[in-house]
Amino acid sequence: MDIHFVCHDCGKKHHPRSLLWRCPCGGLLDVDQFTISFPFDEIKKRPATMWRYREALPFVSDSTVWEALTLGEGYTPIVPLDSKSPNILLKVEYMMPTLSFKDRGVAVLVAKAKALGVTKVIADSSGNAGTSLSAYASRAGMKCDIYVPESTSPKKVLQISAHGATVHRIPGNREATAHAVIEAIESNQGFYASHVYNPFFYQGTKTYAFEIFEQLNGEMPDVLVFPVGNGSLLLGAYYGFQELLHGGMIVKIPRFIAVQAEGCAPIAQAFRTGKKTAEPVVNTGTAAEGIAIAAPARHRQILDAIYATGGFVITAPKEKMEPARRELASKGFYVEPTTAATYAGFLEYLAQAHNSTGNLPGFEPDAKVIIPLCGAGIKAN
Ligand SMILES: *Cc1c(COP(=O)(O)O)cnc(C)c1O
Ligand SMILES: [Zn+2]
Repeated sequence: MDIHFVCHDCGKKHHPRSLLWRCPCGGLLDVDQFTISFPFDEIKKRPATMWRYREALPFVSDSTVWEALTLGEGYTPIVPLDSKSPNILLKVEYMMPTLSFKDRGVAVLVAKAKALGVTKVIADSSGNAGTSLSAYASRAGMKCDIYVPESTSPKKVLQISAHGATVHRIPGNREATAHAVIEAIESNQGFYASHVYNPFFYQGTKTYAFEIFEQLNGEMPDVLVFPVGNGSLLLGAYYGFQELLHGGMIVKIPRFIAVQAEGCAPIAQAFRTGKKTAEPVVNTGTAAEGIAIAAPARHRQILDAIYATGGFVITAPKEKMEPARRELASKGFYVEPTTAATYAGFLEYLAQAHNSTGNLPGFEPDAKVIIPLCGAGIKAN
């Protein structure tokens, strides 16, 4: 099985060994379809990591490249919010080797880069993608350069340097950091291991869907809440659910509710007016640094996925984030501000659906909802 990339715009196929980060036409790359399977009798006997679904991941069946790199990522617990809310389920994605869901995507991406002979990876990040990449790159024996906005949590910066990566702190906003890394890539300083552009990342995040299917014994949730900056969890999960659907394991994909931060919400702005593409916005500031993406490159794909599931986009109000963080902590979950924003967004959705005249896709009071807790509180200030 040889995996190819396919351009979202012109349809041209590229071999990953080209090390392209986007099509020469400017289009975004996706992984072209390949044959997958879910041998659940075997899967059930395997360790509780995302690699139990390896027949659905883009590796030849006898590939062992990932075995040297895995830190045991995936198969995170699903826990009720509290005993009064048995159908509001939290998938505790911060229980990951580097304390965020980014490990799903990075583990696959670094294994593929290693197999291609890459010796140095570069990425830009608001924090967690960088901490994850620096850990796995170091384990793989690769050099690593991480570009972060100057405002990134000092704890995340420390975590990145602890793994031996070089940190470039870029003045200005997240977009300035994105520009700086592209300059480095264009001058051939290394392989762009981007969680936004590299399609292998989404092959890792799709395991989020497989786990939900397996952990709930196929009793699918009605609603899935996602934080959305660049959409790397939402899109990966969407691809994963599509694969379960095509494999006949589920009959429909749950409704996706995307949460953006008030102050930086291009997807929400597009959704409000029914648009299929999002215009860049000006980031007017938010505590939710992990979803403050003013111009998400995969905006069209994110909106497609939301519309296709009958979903909705909500913005988490600024003043509700800190109370949401305290509320989660009171129930035993210590999360970073971006994750508090996800929960605040969910609460806001409930409030608006309750008050609306029926133009919000509502859900039954006993609907089963899954909210990911993507990042650990200990990483933030
Ligand atoms: C990366 C990240 C997000 C947002 O992911 P996107 O791919 O940008 O949508 C949300 N929460 C946490 C904790 C993250 O690390
Ligand atoms: Zn193209």
